[in-house]
Amino acid sequence: MNISALAPTLAQTYGTPLYVYDFDGITTRFNQLKNAFRARKSIIAYAVKANSNLSTLAHMAKLGAGADCVSIGEVKRALLAGIPKYQIIFSGVGKQDEEIRQALEADILFINIESEAEMYRIEQVAQSMGKVARLSVRVNPNIDAKTHPYISTGLQENKFGVDIETAKRIYLYIKNSPVLEPVGIHFHIGSQLTQLEPIREAAVIVANLVRTLQAVKIELKFFDIGGGIGVVYSDETTIDPVEYAQAILSTMMGLDMTIICEPGRYIVANNGYLLTRVLYEKMSGARRFVVIDGAMNDLLRPSLYKAYHRIEAVERAGEPTNADVVGPVCESGDFLGKNVPLPPMQHNDILVVHSAGAYGFSMASNYNTRGRAAEVAIEGDAHRLIRARESFEDMIANESKYL
Ligand SMILES: *Cc1c(COP(=O)(O)O)cnc(C)c1O
Repeated sequence: MNISALAPTLAQTYGTPLYVYDFDGITTRFNQLKNAFRARKSIIAYAVKANSNLSTLAHMAKLGAGADCVSIGEVKRALLAGIPKYQIIFSGVGKQDEEIRQALEADILFINIESEAEMYRIEQVAQSMGKVARLSVRVNPNIDAKTHPYISTGLQENKFGVDIETAKRIYLYIKNSPVLEPVGIHFHIGSQLTQLEPIREAAVIVANLVRTLQAVKIELKFFDIGGGIGVVYSDETTIDPVEYAQAILSTMMGLDMTIICEPGRYIVANNGYLLTRVLYEKMSGARRFVVIDGAMNDLLRPSLYKAYHRIEAVERAGEPTNADVVGPVCESGDFLGKNVPLPPMQHNDILVVHSAGAYGFSMASNYNTRGRAAEVAIEGDAHRLIRARESFEDMIANESKYL
């Protein structure tokens, strides 16, 4: 898909700021990963939080994906989009009783637990419903994933998962509880991972734990390796899906388990774009600012993680000089790019922000009472709206009745 060529038509048709997703590109990425694991039974459980639009999820469903969800809202989205319940997982460090109850009611594949306390809560809820809860335990292998500290999750200092000894205790308890059933084991050491070695080390630790558990007659069916495969935003080296699968499989000698992989970013990041228009330019001393109609409420990653997104002026040629690309939100942290080489820009010129398909719209907010952007899908030569631009009325709907 040639976004540079399509951008003017899309901006004209749907307005800006606008998220655009390449569904064919999503298919390609999904199949790459699925094929990499073809030596084993596997479920590619797409991490819904990366991009949770219902049409994106329906596309995943068509491809045969499962879903990794971190709230009951995401579970409901996945079900609504047609992802089969036996391919849906519910993860996350803090689940409310009502979320646990609804997950058990929906009869999804399993719940990933992240603490002993959570296990006891689930036991109580399951007991009160007369149901058996299928569980997996998220193990924290204490591995440095070598990624940004905000998206690193596999070290003891992070809030995620339980250590090996706690995990053993938890599995023994689950095994002996009449309303709990141990079915899986899970690890996820971070996001935007660019090195294979930490993942392999984590898999070795977790596979060994599986063998220890087998010795006490705890047989797990699912080996859940989390997500986190990195993508190219600028010049990162990334993990090859085939090498990734090989590394995981090599740690699983003698284990007859279904692999679950939970990619989010890998599938959608490079298949999404944020289209914005230039409002105007201004100079502040020697500093050049290009003010656009998109902002941190549309794409938070630059403000939150100092993340880099390539920004392209698609229609205008001319000698580029560096500019900070900033939005209208009243925060100094409101920028989509710093020192971006751009030609002189005119009012209404289009800028394409690349690699915005993951953690873009799904992190968007109404800060500054800005309606969230519209979303468009492209498949083949056709484009279609998959989420309408949020109106002022949408934004105040839950408040106006109390006025
Ligand atoms: C966020 C998350 C993922 C997806 O991470 P990506 O970096 O987008 O692949 C997978 N599993 C769990 C448990 C997560 O929290």
